[in-house]
Amino acid sequence: MSSAEAKSVGRIETTLMRWFLRHSRISAVESVAGSFRLITLTSDSLKGFSFKPGLRIQISVGGIHAMRTYTPVMWDVEGGTVSILVYLHGIGPGANWAGHAEPGDEVWLFGPRQSLDISQAVDPFVFGDETSFGLALAIQASSIEQTGRRVFEVSDAVAARDAVQHFGIRDVTLFTRLPDDGHLPSVVEAMQALCLDDRQAFLTGRAAAVQHLYKAIRQSETTPPMLRAKAYWASGKVGLE
Ligand SMILES: Cc1cc2nc3c(=O)[nH]c(=O)nc-3n(C[C@H](O)[C@H](O)[C@H](O)COP(=O)(O)OP(=O)(O)OC[C@H]3O[C@@H](n4cnc5c(N)ncnc54)[C@H](O)[C@@H]3O)c2cc1C
Repeated sequence: MSSAEAKSVGRIETTLMRWFLRHSRISAVESVAGSFRLITLTSDSLKGFSFKPGLRIQISVGGIHAMRTYTPVMWDVEGGTVSILVYLHGIGPGANWAGHAEPGDEVWLFGPRQSLDISQAVDPFVFGDETSFGLALAIQASSIEQTGRRVFEVSDAVAARDAVQHFGIRDVTLFTRLPDDGHLPSVVEAMQALCLDDRQAFLTGRAAAVQHLYKAIRQSETTPPMLRAKAYWASGKVGLE
């Protein structure tokens, strides 16, 4: 592509972003435990929504064709401020963006849109992983009744425990991922003990784990009255919505 063609593509992309995305700027970044970053965005364009846990936003991490999905932890709808907790899993445009994000950076985003409707849930059980910490915090900060039932599979238990303590995520059980998903039978056992038949259950995080647990709960004797699943990422796939 010639430089004139590249400029023209750049101009079209900027126009599309202006049409379809909200403009904001990073107002704060907090790094925690080496692999988590709490990123706060501020803009007038973020004012006036009604916030509930389980929403998602998509952030442009490299033009309009590279959008990555994150869960608002909190949304100050009067001040126009939203925070997301990003897990730096390794290599990917989203992890790279979050790893280098700094106050003052310009951010284009799409949403908010519904991901999981948790707002009506009573004492929900949540399964997930590092990418679900933001959801747990959003639920915790809400008025949803909860006695604390969160089970997370994690790659690095020390970093995850540090993050859990730092953010004050309550009543969490962490399972370290084992090769060939050798930890999942213990996760199923823990869920069956916690996820009694009057509980609503929400499964999030890694697609293969979500699938495994969904099947296990459906086959168990104590199936919760509401069971919702939403994969946040899948091995080898990019940018799930
Ligand atoms: C509704 C929804 C809400 C989400 N909320 C959050 C959130 O609040 N915080 C958050 O951190 N993430 C969240 N995610 C997950 C996040 O969007 C994905 O992890 C995304 O793939 C990251 O983009 P990337 O550019 O870093 O990697 P991609 O380019 O998408 O993927 C590159 C490679 O990395 C792998 N990969 C992606 N994510 C992970 C991971 N977590 N661990 C190990 N390998 C991975 C992929 O399989 C692929 O092989 C959410 C996703 C959805 C659908």
